[in-house]
Amino acid sequence: MLTQKRFELITLGEELLLGLTANTHLTFIGEHLGRHGVTLQRNVTIPDDAETIGRAFSESWERSDVVITTGGLGPTCDDRTRETIAGILGCRLVFHPETDEAIKERFARFGRPVTSNNLKQAYYPEGAEVISNPNGTAPGIWFGRGGKILVMLPGPPSELRPMFLGAVIPRLAAHGLISGGEAYVQVKTAGIGESALETKLQPVFEKHGQLNVAYCAHAGQVDLRLNSLNEDLTGEDLETIAGECRDLLGDDFLCMGELSMVKVISDFLRAHDLGLAVAESCTGGLMASCFTDLPGASKFFTGGIVCYGNASKVELLDVPECLLKQHGAVSAETAAAMATGVAERLDADYGLSLTGFAGPCGGNAENPVGTIFIGLHTPKGIWSKRINYPGSRTAVKQRAVNAALDWLRRVLIHHGGDGADRIVRDRVEPGGIIDLRAT
Ligand code: ATP
Ligand code: MG
Repeated sequence: MLTQKRFELITLGEELLLGLTANTHLTFIGEHLGRHGVTLQRNVTIPDDAETIGRAFSESWERSDVVITTGGLGPTCDDRTRETIAGILGCRLVFHPETDEAIKERFARFGRPVTSNNLKQAYYPEGAEVISNPNGTAPGIWFGRGGKILVMLPGPPSELRPMFLGAVIPRLAAHGLISGGEAYVQVKTAGIGESALETKLQPVFEKHGQLNVAYCAHAGQVDLRLNSLNEDLTGEDLETIAGECRDLLGDDFLCMGELSMVKVISDFLRAHDLGLAVAESCTGGLMASCFTDLPGASKFFTGGIVCYGNASKVELLDVPECLLKQHGAVSAETAAAMATGVAERLDADYGLSLTGFAGPCGGNAENPVGTIFIGLHTPKGIWSKRINYPGSRTAVKQRAVNAALDWLRRVLIHHGGDGADRIVRDRVEPGGIIDLRAT
């Protein structure tokens, strides 16, 4: 059994303390260590001055099994991590010819001259191992002494992340400092709150006393992490329990592991050779952007139309002018007409639309700020649904997109079956749905 080692993370950079850059190394490294059964015991964020680096490192090194530092390995005068820590460890800095070569090659590839300050990146503390950096000039450093490990990684996330996953995680596992495999199984859910989720899955949890369950709620989704309390449950047991959760969750189950909502939708559409188009008013292209973030989106995403004003809704989506006059741009009828308009114009099987009052002004007594109508055009019918979310303009826009995506996902699960109508109506407030087939 793996005895939990003490891991500490020191993130360097004045920009982090000034709030100019979010400390994503904490979330990234914390998440990946967590997956391998280790919880970071401490993270300290410090500026790049030598005295502070020295103090913070000495403290962490004294009481930890593994210390990870990020940032300050670059070529400029404010990058002092390597020299300062080597000094505290009493290590000379020695030249690493392969790194020197790699830096020169990288500069030659970009047709730029190598300035002399780059040379310091080719030095490493004597006795350490160099972790190569395929995406930048500053390599990482792996140093072991008296059973303790120090890992130094460069600051840019595009450099740190592949180095951490490709070189650090395997080394930590080989030294028995983290578990080799994933220490937990993740079940992602959507459209169900934490408390309802726990209640729904109680029968599974009651059956497995040795199970440890953690919840992480965000943006209309709740992720469940399942692991074993005392390593009594094997990886296979956890997979089986995750399967039991999936069966009990029904349409609230999103996926196992790490997939995003749009990826789940995209996989379904691609597997069934279906096309999707979106029409957006208040969200201004946010929903289209989610889909185009996926590589290969053109295989299923036929396009998106942003139609903010009434004239563009008429011109680009064939929303009847009289319908806009009678019901208004923010209405169930307009959302439905937008969904059908975009599906027909852009030749898609499914059309999804959003129109609403994102705030802070606008709205009326019937449909106050935060009211959004989602329109859904499917091969089986056309519906729209009303939702209302409080919050800032940005929050309302994001929540509207999340809700629309989840509604589409739920309907897609029943594509080709008879369940679509039931699913469309599922959990919608009375009067919140219009069914255009019935009007
Ligand atoms: P470089 O060679 O780019 O100078 P470096 O190892 O010296 O690399 P820094 O100069 O500290 O690293 O930071 C480089 C970039 O990485 C900066 O844009 C910085 O904002 C970003 N960065 C540093 N630390 C973090 C962090 N904890 N989370 C997210 N981004 C970070
Ligand atoms: Mg730097």
